[in-house]
Amino acid sequence: MTNDTRNFVIIGAGHASAQLCESLRRGGFKGRITLIGEETWLPYQRPPLSKAYLLGDFARERLFVKPQSFYDENNIELHLGQSATAIDRTGKTVAVGNDLIAYDRLALLTGTRVRKLDCPGAHLSGVHYMRGIDDIDGLEPAIPSAKTAVVIGGGYIGLEAAAVLRKKGLDVTILHRSPRLLSRVASSETAAFMQKLHEEEGVHVRLNQTVRSIEGAGKVERVEIERVVVDHVEHTNRIEIPADLVVAGIGVLPNQRLASDSGLATENGIVVDQFCRTADPDIFAAGDVAEHPHPPYGTLRLESVQNALDQAKTCAAAMLDEATPYTATPWFWSDQFDVKFQSAGLPQGYTASVWRAGDKPRSGSNWLYSGHQLICVEAINDPRAYMMGKRWLEGGMSPIADDVSNPKIGLKEVRTSNTGAKPQH
Ligand code: NAP
Repeated sequence: MTNDTRNFVIIGAGHASAQLCESLRRGGFKGRITLIGEETWLPYQRPPLSKAYLLGDFARERLFVKPQSFYDENNIELHLGQSATAIDRTGKTVAVGNDLIAYDRLALLTGTRVRKLDCPGAHLSGVHYMRGIDDIDGLEPAIPSAKTAVVIGGGYIGLEAAAVLRKKGLDVTILHRSPRLLSRVASSETAAFMQKLHEEEGVHVRLNQTVRSIEGAGKVERVEIERVVVDHVEHTNRIEIPADLVVAGIGVLPNQRLASDSGLATENGIVVDQFCRTADPDIFAAGDVAEHPHPPYGTLRLESVQNALDQAKTCAAAMLDEATPYTATPWFWSDQFDVKFQSAGLPQGYTASVWRAGDKPRSGSNWLYSGHQLICVEAINDPRAYMMGKRWLEGGMSPIADDVSNPKIGLKEVRTSNTGAKPQH
């Protein structure tokens, strides 16, 4: 029995929410925890969806962050398959269907939703997105009978989808509207490496392309491209690419309407401070949806598992009045064909890059500097470079670029300078 009668309500049942439940209990919270999620699934991990799960190498049960018993044993009240529709900040309630759930503290972990195609034919059967379990379960059965696939968008989702579809034997074309792949999330050098990798594996990569329409009689048959840019010159000739299926990975949008409708500040996400606190002392936000200060990058909204998990811990501490600032070094990873890509730091605003060759084919690392300060490392089949780079970033150390570029100098022997500034702290 507990004397704590408070109810901490969490809206959104993704990866971060499972972590928040665990961190609240570990932090000693003995009151009620109520978890509201639109999907019927228990909180699950998304990274395997576009990789091993789509390939068929990862059982669905392994996706769940915690088993049902965790929620039972920790007395967490689940409202799955239910949507929160409004927050009353004065009465401190959340509307769910016809019910009002009273909260003492509220965490908004509402995540993101996919940006949808808006071209003609976008609604045709055979057009897929890759965000949740249901998306993958809808796509997977369509693969065996398909011969051709068009992937729209050359971010992580697009590239990971292309790699899986190609491994499954399809003729795959990636259409990306920017002049280079991974335009939002990796350096141009790494993007060029990834493009070469995909082309070597037989994927057709078409940059600078805008989809005009998706065509087919009731079902996708081809994709029409309208705009092609070559050497900065725009051509509007139409090209048709056969497609038995289309996968779109054209980014995500933050689910912030509940917050903005209740008068909380939103920009590109729900605005929080370094402690995951909104301006309302009883409302918090974390994960993909949270726009937060992250010196020295400025204000960020990060879409990654690392951010979801680390911010959930920060959020739990703040909800328990033990606030500690969120300072974690951002890191990402991606698996494509036989390449494991890992990055630490963010590839934003770098003024120089240094390539360090790896010791096997398709390996190496790209080191990004702002002046003499290391701001990011991107490692390709080179976990040692990733680990060292992450450690240096976290310690505010910068390896001397000339040493890094010389693979004869072991990473442990590379000279470093203490730049004083920790890019991620
Ligand atoms: P993303 O990184 O935003 O990439 C989407 C890309 O699609 C952008 O570069 C964008 O180009 C392009 N695009 C947008 N509209 C387009 C259009 N109409 N036609 C062609 N291209 C278009 O997002 P994502 O790859 O869809 O990934 C979604 C989310 O999943 C992100 O949160 C991502 O971080 C996460 N995810 C992460 C991993 C990982 O960490 N390994 C793996 C998979 C997914 P512009 O650059 O021109 O805007």
